[in-house]
Amino acid sequence: MKTKEIQRRLNEIYSLVPNFNCDRCGQCCGPIHWGLSEDIIIREFLKENKREYIKWNEDDYINNELRCPYYNREKNICTIYQVRPLICRLQGVVKELPCPNKIPNKILPRQTTDEMWRIFRKLEKELDDEKNNGM
Ligand code: SF4
Ligand code: SF4
Repeated sequence: MKTKEIQRRLNEIYSLVPNFNCDRCGQCCGPIHWGLSEDIIIREFLKENKREYIKWNEDDYINNELRCPYYNREKNICTIYQVRPLICRLQGVVKELPCPNKIPNKILPRQTTDEMWRIFRKLEKELDDEKNNGM
């Protein structure tokens, strides 16, 4: 699948996330995992910006107080904000991921998050199948 198509399908999912008055304090920026689709987009973004992909092991996370490697603590910003994964976007807008900074926001209905994950898993499966078939 072409990168543009992956981005288009991810955007469809991201568009279901309501705007949130997040002040980007980074308190929720701990160790995170993302899927294959988002990994492709993040790698592409870093490549375009001539930046290195960071792959941390457990010790790296411990030495960085369990912060995400893409969080810049001096500037208080996510350095991949434009392509941050779904799990980051859902912080503060789903019941299971309350904003640690206690910024109030409308919580998404369960039905919407279930639908998002359903579309996301479908995309991941398609990419995984492509990978396994050597495409
Ligand atoms: S969701 Fe909350 S904790 Fe996370 S960066 Fe935004 S304001 Fe900070
Ligand atoms: S990708 Fe960005 S928003 Fe997500 S945890 Fe890392 S720094 Fe925070």
